[in-house]
Amino acid sequence: MSEQVSRRTALKAVGMGVAALAVGAGPGAGVATAARGRLTADDLRTALGGKVLFPGDPDYDAERAGFNTLFQQSPNAIVLAQTPQDVATAVRIGGGTGWPIAVQATGHGICVPADGALLINMREMNGVAVDTAARTARISGGARWSDVLAVAAPAGLLPPVGSTSDVGATGYATGGGVPVLGRTYGFASDRVRSIELVTPDGRLRCLTPQRESDLFWAVRGGGSNFGAVTSFEIDLLPAATVYGGGLVFPAAASAQAYRGYVEWTKTASDRITSVASFIRTPTSQVLRIEVVYVGSATDGAAEIAPLRALNPVSDSVTDVPIAQLDTIFNVPTKPTANLVESGLIGTLDAAGVEVVLNAVGFGAALPSGVAEIRHMGGAFSRPPAAPSAIGNRDAQYLVFLSNTVPQPDAAGSIEQAQQTILTNLAPVLTGRTVPTFLGTVDTSVAAVRSAYTDSDWNRLLSLKHAYDPANRFRINHNIR
Ligand SMILES: Cc1cc2nc3c(=O)[nH]c(=O)nc-3n(C[C@H](O)[C@H](O)[C@H](O)COP(=O)(O)OP(=O)(O)OC[C@H]3O[C@@H](n4cnc5c(N)ncnc54)[C@H](O)[C@@H]3O)c2cc1C
Repeated sequence: MSEQVSRRTALKAVGMGVAALAVGAGPGAGVATAARGRLTADDLRTALGGKVLFPGDPDYDAERAGFNTLFQQSPNAIVLAQTPQDVATAVRIGGGTGWPIAVQATGHGICVPADGALLINMREMNGVAVDTAARTARISGGARWSDVLAVAAPAGLLPPVGSTSDVGATGYATGGGVPVLGRTYGFASDRVRSIELVTPDGRLRCLTPQRESDLFWAVRGGGSNFGAVTSFEIDLLPAATVYGGGLVFPAAASAQAYRGYVEWTKTASDRITSVASFIRTPTSQVLRIEVVYVGSATDGAAEIAPLRALNPVSDSVTDVPIAQLDTIFNVPTKPTANLVESGLIGTLDAAGVEVVLNAVGFGAALPSGVAEIRHMGGAFSRPPAAPSAIGNRDAQYLVFLSNTVPQPDAAGSIEQAQQTILTNLAPVLTGRTVPTFLGTVDTSVAAVRSAYTDSDWNRLLSLKHAYDPANRFRINHNIR
């Protein structure tokens, strides 16, 4: 509450109103400054019913900063949305400014800085309502998976969360979302039942398989290209615990362990999802095979017996209460500058395994970071009950490269190293990826398009033209 009071007090000093925002000129930080004299804070508050920050306001710097500190963004204005109506009003007013509109929840997936934009910061819209009988959750557009877990886990219900619950639920689920239980339950977007979306015309719409079915199809994969999601409803999975953890192999044993692991994936059941992570720090190099099994510890232990026979030097696989799911992958939650890249692998024969080892194994001199190779297939490959823009489902593995950028001048060489890895992996890559793992730097049409099938891309393009002809929602992996 005191934080709210301080923001509202700060707004009084801003001296802006709605009128000039609605008729403002094109993008650029200068526009906000030029508009300030013509607007009043009271008008803004009346129109948006929430909080608006401009460059120079006390909370502006904190609210424009996202998880990925590689991006220092300079939006013209930030709306701290609290209700769906705030979002609708922001989109309508933003529509009159000519500024692009950016939507962010946590900044884990920033790929284009919101410079000169109206940034709708969804962070405060983090409410979650769980229906234990129906096994569903209604999740507000700015909630993290940790917000969902906090309500669902005590009821023995698990959301389709990824390697860290620190990530925003909406950005993840509307980008497909690759859960740690994905081989059992599929992509997170497969489990979405309905979506409330503010489209670029400022209308709040309810999307279901029957209602606005085109948009319901497009948003599950096309994300913020079609507007701002104010909430969505998703299935929860019955599981109080999972059997999961990591098996660690030193660099010297990693190639042999990886060969054995890939062989094991070929007969692994759909109840187990796993990731082989080649992890480099300045002081260590290890292969960590992370597993998550849906079922009893006895059955899970039987399932992973062939992996244990590979002689890991440490083994943390055990019963994990779902509230502690993050302990399996231990992904850091401190904001950092990160570069990511990805690609799908169709299948891996013996020669393909050697291609992977040459590209990301410890024989190669690579920067600190992780090269994950996730096991796909299983329920990932099955079409969802309601079709979505998530295609490319036949791949058996997904490569995800994530490297921390220790200082800005290292970004170029790290990006180059990631491109070299992808080039070396080319013989096994399908040339496609999934939307949540699209790269940080390359937002070209060719790159974005690689997250979709050709026919889905064409359908997305025509829907984008229909719903966002001016491409206002372009601060993202843009469909254009
Ligand atoms: C450490 C780490 C671990 C990850 N692990 C996984 C994983 O296991 N599986 C997986 O699939 N992905 C994973 N990701 C990728 C992650 O799912 C995407 O980056 C996702 O888009 C992040 O969403 P966000 O809201 O947290 O981030 P933001 O940067 O705030 O948003 C990312 C995108 O989502 C859009 N968006 C956010 N909120 C809304 C909204 N309310 N309405 C419309 N659009 C919205 C934004 O416009 C933007 O395009 C991981 C990322 C990181 C950094």
